[in-house]
Amino acid sequence: MATVLITGANRGLGLEFCRQYAQAGWQVLAACRQPQKAHDLQRLAGLSPNLQLHALDVSDLAQIDALAEQLSGQTLDLLINNAGVYGDNNSNGFGQMDYAAWASVLEINCQAPVKMAEAFLPQLQKSQQALIANVSSLMGSISDNTSGGSIMYRSSKAALNAAMKSLAIELGKQNIGVITLHPGWVKTDMGGPNALIEAEASVAGMRTVLADFYLAQSGSFVKYDGTQLPW
Ligand code: NAP
Repeated sequence: MATVLITGANRGLGLEFCRQYAQAGWQVLAACRQPQKAHDLQRLAGLSPNLQLHALDVSDLAQIDALAEQLSGQTLDLLINNAGVYGDNNSNGFGQMDYAAWASVLEINCQAPVKMAEAFLPQLQKSQQALIANVSSLMGSISDNTSGGSIMYRSSKAALNAAMKSLAIELGKQNIGVITLHPGWVKTDMGGPNALIEAEASVAGMRTVLADFYLAQSGSFVKYDGTQLPW
């Protein structure tokens, strides 16, 4: 049975990843900040004996190390760095930037995925076909940015993309793949009700991209429908 570890598993895309991988018969290690309040995830765990809940705030590097230690005997085939925050709002844009808030967005969206990869490397090394998938955003594409704004979010996802390109080169030597994904504009708390697609379609598409992944694709930036995206 293949094993996946998913961050931000309690709602939105993370919850849908858990639902689909559990249904497909994977062992799902579902990590979220407050499992005791994650009622939808608890319900899913009740229906899926192959799904385990774990507490993890990805901005707490010591918590990442502690979870990796707790799961040291595990083989990990897929790590999905999904947890993310938007950060930007009307009161902290250019001219009134909130630098502490920006630092927090960078920690969660960029530093935490790198730390997850570092901490869980021993578990990934045990897999024959390990893959690190990062839920980024087209908003992190510099060449696609024609409307400006969202400085915190755009910079954090651009930094994530840059960091993961380096990891792809580094980890390719060990046959561990790294991919950066754009899930589309999805109806979640972050995407809002006007978004274009449902989480179910986005995750189904991303799962197909991950299932079809081969090592020569490592370090690429791919939309949920398989389209290659510009940096
Ligand atoms: P969402 O519904 O707002 O969910 C965000 C998830 O991230 C929640 O589970 C949240 O947990 C978790 N999270 C935030 N900070 C965390 C932390 N410090 N530690 C652990 N978990 C944390 O958003 P979503 O749409 O599902 O987003 C998932 C990913 O897709 C994000 O990386 C986002 O940037 C990306 N994305 C989304 C869209 C879209 O249109 N929806 C588009 C492009 C990219 P809590 O419940 O504890 O806050």
